[in-house]
Amino acid sequence: MRKEYLLAPGPTPVPPEVLLEMAKPVFHHRTAAYRKMHQEVLEDLKTVFRTKNDVYTMTSSGTGAMESAVVNIVSPGDKTLVVQGGKFGERWVQLCKAFGAKPIVINVEWGKPVAPEEIRKQLKANPDVVAVYTTLVETSTGVVTDMAAIGSIVKETNALLVCDGISSVGAIPMETDAWGIDMLVVGSQKALMLPPGLAFITVSPKAWKAIDARRPAAFYFDLKKARKNIATFDNPWTPAVTLMVGLKKSLELMKQRGIEQLWKDHARLAQATRAAVKAMGLKLFADPPADCVTAVRMPEGVDGEAVVKKLRSDHGITIAGGQDQAKGKVIRISNMGYVDDSDVVIIISALERVLVEMGHKFEIGSGLRAAQEALLRKA
Ligand code: PMP
Repeated sequence: MRKEYLLAPGPTPVPPEVLLEMAKPVFHHRTAAYRKMHQEVLEDLKTVFRTKNDVYTMTSSGTGAMESAVVNIVSPGDKTLVVQGGKFGERWVQLCKAFGAKPIVINVEWGKPVAPEEIRKQLKANPDVVAVYTTLVETSTGVVTDMAAIGSIVKETNALLVCDGISSVGAIPMETDAWGIDMLVVGSQKALMLPPGLAFITVSPKAWKAIDARRPAAFYFDLKKARKNIATFDNPWTPAVTLMVGLKKSLELMKQRGIEQLWKDHARLAQATRAAVKAMGLKLFADPPADCVTAVRMPEGVDGEAVVKKLRSDHGITIAGGQDQAKGKVIRISNMGYVDDSDVVIIISALERVLVEMGHKFEIGSGLRAAQEALLRKA
C-alpha cells in the first residue's frame, strides 16, 4: 500500500469535495438547472480571471483555447509577434503557422523572461502585427513574465495581446482587464484544481472587433457561436457537464479563500520550495521564478530524469522533468492548486533522500530545515 502524490505542473491534485460533486449523476445541459449553474460559474470565473468580459468554456485541454485565440483573430498571411522562451511559446509559433499566419518570433533564452522593451521595438518596426502571443508562466522553464508591462505597451497599439495563463491563473496575480489582456487562455488541470478537459478564454471588446471583422475560420472553436449561446448561458455544443459541476465546486472553494489570498498562499509555498532547494546546494533554473512551479537545476552528474523516476518509484511522488534542451538537467516541482505545507515537506524530504542516494553532497535535513523555517511565516 502506497500513497501517491501529484506535484507536477499539471494535472494537479483534485480536492475530495470536487471529486464527490463529480460522482453525482449526469444531468442534461439544455435545462434551466444547467443554465443556472453556467451563469454562476461564469460569474465566479470572471472573479478569478479578473475580468468584466464573458469567459468562454470549451471542452478541450488548454491547447484548444490557444487554438481559438489564433483561429478567431488571425487570417492567413497576417503578421503576429510571438515570445518563444520554452515549449509553450513554441506552441504559439506552431499554431500561428498552422493557420497560415507569419509569426515574428522573439527568441528568449530558456529560463529568462522577454524584455518588454523588445516587444515595443518589434511593434514599432512592424505596425501591421495583428496579435502578440505571450505566456505568463512558461511551464517548461518556470519563468514568470512581466505581463503588466507588456500590457501597457501593447495597449497603445492596434495589436491584440493574447496571454497563455494555463499554468498560472488562479495561482499568481493576473489582472486581465487592468493589464489590457485581450484574450486570456486557461486550462482546468492546474490552479483551478480540476481534472484535465476544460479550457477557458476571455475576449475583450478590442478582440471582438477583430473577430467580427473576419469570416469565422473555425467551427468547433468559433467564438461568435459561443457568444450567441452564452447570452442564454448555453454552450454551442454538449458541454462537459460533469467537469462543469466540478468547476462550480472548485470555484466555490477558491472564492471561500479569496483570490488574493490564494496568490499569497502560492507565493509562500513557492518561497519555501525555493529556500529548501537552495539550502540543498541546488540552483533555480528560472530568473525570475514563478510562484506556482519551481524548476531546479540538477547538480553535475545527477540525471534529472532518474530523479523524477526514483521519486515516483520509491516515494509515490510525481513531479516533472525537463523538456527538450532542459531534459535531464532540471526537475520541476509544482505547488499549484490543491497543495499545502505538508506537500512541500513531503517532496523536499523525498528529494533529499533521492539526491543523497544519487551521490549529491549536501547535509541531509538542510532543505527540510529551510522549508520549515519558511513555512513558519504565514501568508
Ligand atoms: N501552456 C502552458 C503554459 C502549459 O503549462 C500547458 C500544459 N502543460 C499548455 C499550454 C498546454 O495545455 P494542454 O496540455 O492542457 O493542452
